[in-house]
Amino acid sequence: MFQKILIANRGEIALRVLRACKELGIQTVVVHSTADADAMHVRLADESVCIGPPPSRDSYLNIHQIVAACEITGADAVHPGYGFLSENAKFADILAAHNITFIGPSGDHIRIMGDKIEAKRTAKRLGIPVVPGSDGAVTEEKEARRIAAEIGYPVIIKASAGGGGRGMKVAHAEADLQIALQTARSEAGAAFGDDAVYIEKYLEKPRHIEVQVFGDGFGGGVHFGERDCSLQRRHQKVWEEANSPALNAEERSRIGGICAKAIADLGYSGAGTIEFLYENGEFYFIEMNTRLQVEHPVTEAITGIDLVHEQIRVASGGGLSVKQEDIKFNGHAIECRINAEDPRTFTPSPGTITHFHTPGGLGIRVDSGVYSGYKIPPYYDSLIGKLIVHGRNRVECMMRLRRALDEFVVDGIKTTLPLFRDLVGNADIANGDYDIHWLEKYLAKGE
Ligand code: ADP
Repeated sequence: MFQKILIANRGEIALRVLRACKELGIQTVVVHSTADADAMHVRLADESVCIGPPPSRDSYLNIHQIVAACEITGADAVHPGYGFLSENAKFADILAAHNITFIGPSGDHIRIMGDKIEAKRTAKRLGIPVVPGSDGAVTEEKEARRIAAEIGYPVIIKASAGGGGRGMKVAHAEADLQIALQTARSEAGAAFGDDAVYIEKYLEKPRHIEVQVFGDGFGGGVHFGERDCSLQRRHQKVWEEANSPALNAEERSRIGGICAKAIADLGYSGAGTIEFLYENGEFYFIEMNTRLQVEHPVTEAITGIDLVHEQIRVASGGGLSVKQEDIKFNGHAIECRINAEDPRTFTPSPGTITHFHTPGGLGIRVDSGVYSGYKIPPYYDSLIGKLIVHGRNRVECMMRLRRALDEFVVDGIKTTLPLFRDLVGNADIANGDYDIHWLEKYLAKGE
């Protein structure tokens, strides 16, 4: 087992990882920018190293500084959290070259899944159902026309190097294709320095369903069920649930089984998420994330298993603490991402939190690094906390969520809490009846 883990992140996820390390009796080092000197994870860590000024590229993305911090403190492993360097293959390779364990998959697996064309090809080879579309990159308009006609309109043009929902264009008919292809390519080139694009069938009313998988490091793979993350705004997840209200036990075990086998065949190690669009009873692979997800706590709530403990165990060569048959799904969980944003316009609202009071009681978990008197720096994302609620079934979970939202107090800044108070009272949400476009439509109606 590791002696000392360096946490290369900030905010709630740095604290989340720190908690897991403390429980396992592992020493912790955190790195931070000058803007985060007063952050909770810095206060609670055994050691901290300031690695640079506020902009992420000079601090949380500065590989050189982070490796130096490992060497100064003698850390033998790095947990990257999510975002920042968590899916950076070069970072994983550099750590390996310094004999420091990257708590995550190999650089090669990160590289494959970071290239969406390669990821889709790999998924297909491993028997994972994919969205019908081009086999690889498409450059010629004639070829695009032929493929689109074959799969049928509407189609979506996506950037191979894409991320964060950027570089995607929908063509509803052949007349839109040329302009969609051109704009997707130039946006992809500008945003990612790589203008490779591919085409796939555009699904009109899908749900976003993702499967939590784990490779044990010895060639075995398991799944921890799925999460439904269909409630999105601008392709950003807002509310996540486990299990999905749309799946039955047979579908769950079928798609989970396919994913677990694929992970084993790939020889993948550590946590991963295989993301699908789901429509009319069919799953369509869109991408795989090779890291811990923001929404992992809903899976922890229904399985009772600490996924960060498992990541650390696997990375240290100890394998998983559970086998597939030990993983049971118990009740229902919902996570609300609470952002420091105006709940109607979603403009960021940094500033000082004058009062912070979190709800409590059975089935409530709040993952947050903020506190009364904390000043939210303007440099990073606006997530200030996650409210995770668990109940014996979805109805109990929703009732508990409603009262937890009533108890939650954040003063001094604007937050998205009022949005969740509206959502929890909505009939479609109560029925679990929503697709990936539902929230955008709901917000458009309210304005
Ligand atoms: P990114 O890595 O940029 O987030 P994804 O491939 O995960 O890109 O897609 C992000 C979102 O775009 C999906 O959650 C979905 O809302 C939409 N999307 C992607 N592919 C399709 C598709 N074939 N049909 C319909 N919507 C899609």
